[in-house]
Amino acid sequence: MTKYIRNLRCSRCGSEYDYRSKPSLCLKNDLGRLDINYDYESLKEFYTREYVNGKSLMSQWKYFDLLPPESSENVVTLNEGATPLIKAQRLAERLGLRRLWIKDETRNPTASYKDRGMSVAVSVAKEFGYRKLATASSGNAAVALSAYAARAGMEIYAFVIEQASYSKVAQLLFYGAKVVRVRGLGREDPTVKMMRLACEKFGFFPSPSFGPFNPYQIEGSKTISYEIVEQLQWRVADWVFVPVGAASLLTGVWKGFRDYFELGLIDGYPRLFAVQSTGNPPFVRAFKEGQDPLNIRPWDYPHTIAWGLEDPYPWDGDAGLTALRVTKGNADEVEDALIVEAMKLLASSEGIFAEPSGVASLAGLMKALQTGLIDKDEEVVVLVTGHGLKDPDVVKEVVGDAPTINPDLEELRVALLKKYGAAL
Ligand SMILES: *Cc1c(COP(=O)(O)O)cnc(C)c1O
Repeated sequence: MTKYIRNLRCSRCGSEYDYRSKPSLCLKNDLGRLDINYDYESLKEFYTREYVNGKSLMSQWKYFDLLPPESSENVVTLNEGATPLIKAQRLAERLGLRRLWIKDETRNPTASYKDRGMSVAVSVAKEFGYRKLATASSGNAAVALSAYAARAGMEIYAFVIEQASYSKVAQLLFYGAKVVRVRGLGREDPTVKMMRLACEKFGFFPSPSFGPFNPYQIEGSKTISYEIVEQLQWRVADWVFVPVGAASLLTGVWKGFRDYFELGLIDGYPRLFAVQSTGNPPFVRAFKEGQDPLNIRPWDYPHTIAWGLEDPYPWDGDAGLTALRVTKGNADEVEDALIVEAMKLLASSEGIFAEPSGVASLAGLMKALQTGLIDKDEEVVVLVTGHGLKDPDVVKEVVGDAPTINPDLEELRVALLKKYGAAL
């Protein structure tokens, strides 16, 4: 046993690995995810509510006991996590809800929740002695990885989808990543193909944001749930809304609640609600059709403004479906137009500016309220996962530009009326 990690077990064939053998992929080559199992019995001896409450560290590394790496000297951090859980009073009123919370993950160092997982992944890569890492990503995961790699002095090869926004590519270039856009998004994700080829050929450490190639990043995402539990004073909300692409975030969120349940720190689960765009809903379809979790059908030709959710195949969909089953959760898809509406509503009523992928969760809540899947008396947490400045092109299409005038009151009056319908 290593620290409190008992072993890693393949989600497909059950093969077990010791952390010290430095695994990332199951050697059976079956694309299973190596789920990390902890020794809850030993942890229970000291890991109590009082113990956690007594720690004041303001980052996800507050939870070092429940995270790889083994040695704290290998932790690579930019103080990710410890994000606020914001009581969304005005938004709640507009939606007719009583208790609504926003977990604001836009506050992370590179402006998405992916920082949590990539901080863990780079720390593990450091512990394993790797200097060169590769990733496949629509943008945010590569950006996060590159920031932490820069801090650790590592080299990054980033394969991003052709459509990745320039602001993400710019971030990558500044962090020093060797970034390449890869053409051909269809049933198979071309960035994943490129990453696998490069890792096999050049011995890079694979570090995307999904489990089968990188089991460690899920451990970072799970700290979102630890924080939510503590921020609600160890109470469990009725629902947690999660945007879904590869379903790795959903898997991490589920794992966080499961850890705390196994440790006896909470006495039940919140119900998890998974949200995708109608432009790419393979996970929602799998849930609704009751597909075999290990054979989820990929989506043909994904197309949505929520680029961060554009994975045609949900790599961690098997664990995601388990999460929904165990927590009596639900899943639904939303139109891009509703995602845009959610973006505007969140920004204008709470001052939180999120990218489309980051706010699909809220769009899902809006639809669930309309269709009666959620009761107005239930307590809801919505994960808002990425910052609005990540996708300025989408934003410009939605809101246009500001009018330009000469410094003249009459011109001001005309411009305000024309653009905003505001009469002075
Ligand atoms: C990656 C991402 C998601 C989805 O996470 P998955 O693990 O792929 O399901 C949601 N929101 C943002 C902003 C992301 O970057």
